[in-house]
Amino acid sequence: MTTQYFAPPACFEGNHVTLPPEEARHVVQVLRHGVGDELVVTDGVGGWFRVVIRFAKKDKIIAEVIEKQIGKGEPSRQLSIGLALLKSTDRYEWFLEKAVELGVTAVYPLLTHHTEMRRFKPERAQKVMIAALKQCGRTRLPLLHPTTELQKCLSTEVDARFLLHEKTTEPNLFERWQVLKPHHTLIVVGPEGGFSEVEVRAALEAGWHMASLGRRRLRAETAAVMAAGLGIWD
Ligand code: SAH
Repeated sequence: MTTQYFAPPACFEGNHVTLPPEEARHVVQVLRHGVGDELVVTDGVGGWFRVVIRFAKKDKIIAEVIEKQIGKGEPSRQLSIGLALLKSTDRYEWFLEKAVELGVTAVYPLLTHHTEMRRFKPERAQKVMIAALKQCGRTRLPLLHPTTELQKCLSTEVDARFLLHEKTTEPNLFERWQVLKPHHTLIVVGPEGGFSEVEVRAALEAGWHMASLGRRRLRAETAAVMAAGLGIWD
């Protein structure tokens, strides 16, 4: 698969695109591309472009669009994952990278009763997600919601909503999901300390399904990546 470059919509004018300086530097200084060479660019909002370089300087590239497609590499259904903030930023970023690769369309960084970490750096998270988008050939950057209280997330209306709980006797997430065939799924995963009983009750009262990922207690980010894996069937 060809390397994709990222240029948000503001970089496009008519049928020309000016790559962001970091992307241009990589193309010119590392890959030694120049005028006349072809590249593949995505705008992160569904656009996929084959372009030809018309101007190249050390940190500036202007290229002409010669082919455009919409929604290449994108799933047809929506999969949103809410993962509570974790003590380790690295582990959270690992989840974000995998979520993009697997086809998640939105992420909610959640604040819950047992969430110890309260800080979240959206700019850094966004960078990880853009890198994953370029690498895996998707064209729509998943929506990264601002940090959200679980309570608020529980009131979100979509086709199927699951709270992953290690102690539930409810059926396995995959079986349930296959039966429901939802167009938009929202799945929430607790922090290291799990969900509180109050939170579990609130979810049940709001009509959420409880779902299990088997007998073993998984790390939160492992559970979240397993849930994100539903995206590959689409
Ligand atoms: N409450 C536990 C562990 C929490 S694990 C404790 O403190 O010992 C963190 C989160 O991962 C959980 O809140 C749940 O959402 C998810 N999770 C982990 N293992 C799971 C399993 N086997 N089934 C479903 N969800 C699981």
